[in-house]
Amino acid sequence: MLIEIYRYMQVIWSGRNCQKNQLIKIWRLAGVYFKLDNHIKRFRRKTNINCLKGCGKCCERVYVETAPLEMIPLAAIILKRAKSGLWIRKLMNVSVEGRCMFYRKLKDVPGKGRCLIYPLRPLTCRLFGFAAKKNKNGQKQWVTCSLLKMLAGSNQVEITVEINKGLSIPVAGSYRWLVHDIGSSAESRLLPLPFALYEAMAILSR
Ligand code: SF4
Repeated sequence: MLIEIYRYMQVIWSGRNCQKNQLIKIWRLAGVYFKLDNHIKRFRRKTNINCLKGCGKCCERVYVETAPLEMIPLAAIILKRAKSGLWIRKLMNVSVEGRCMFYRKLKDVPGKGRCLIYPLRPLTCRLFGFAAKKNKNGQKQWVTCSLLKMLAGSNQVEITVEINKGLSIPVAGSYRWLVHDIGSSAESRLLPLPFALYEAMAILSR
C-alpha cells in the first residue's frame, strides 16, 4: 500500500503541469483504489484466500478493458518523461489479444511473471479474483479465477453463502460506478487497455 501511495504522489508531482481538474481526478481515482484495496484485504483476511506468490496467469490470457481516466496517471508519467513518441508507436502496433502489454513473464517459469505498472494498474485488474457480481435475483456471486476456486475447494460454496449473509466483498459494478463518477463520459467509456492509454495521453496533451 505504501508503494502505491508513493507512486500516486509521484504521479501528482509529475503531472503538476497538468490542468488542476485532471490532478483532482487522479487523486479521486487513487481514493477509490485505496478503498477497494482495503476492502479486498479484509475479504482475503476473513476467507484466507490469497493469490499464489508471483502468479500471473490472469495477465497471460485476459483481455483487459479499462477507462481512459484510469490510464491518466500512467500517461502523466509517460508525458513527463517526454517518451510520448515512443509510446504512441508502441501502442499503434500492440495486439489487444493474449498477454497484457504490461505483463513480463519470468523466463523458464510458466505462469509466473510481474506487472510493470502494478501500483497504477486499473480497476479490472484490482478486482480480478476478489469481487462479486449480483445476479438477477440480487444475490451476490463470487467471481474468481480457476486457481482460487481450486484453493477454496469445498469452502467455495460456504464463502458464497457467507457473502449473502453479510461477508463483505467488493461488488465490481459498484466500484465501476465510483470510477465512472469521476470522469466525463468520454473518459469513462471502456476500451482495450492500450487504446485507453492512447486516449489518456491525448486527453493530457489537449
Ligand atoms: S495491467 Fe498489470 S495486472 Fe493488469 S493485466 Fe496487465 S500485467 Fe496484469
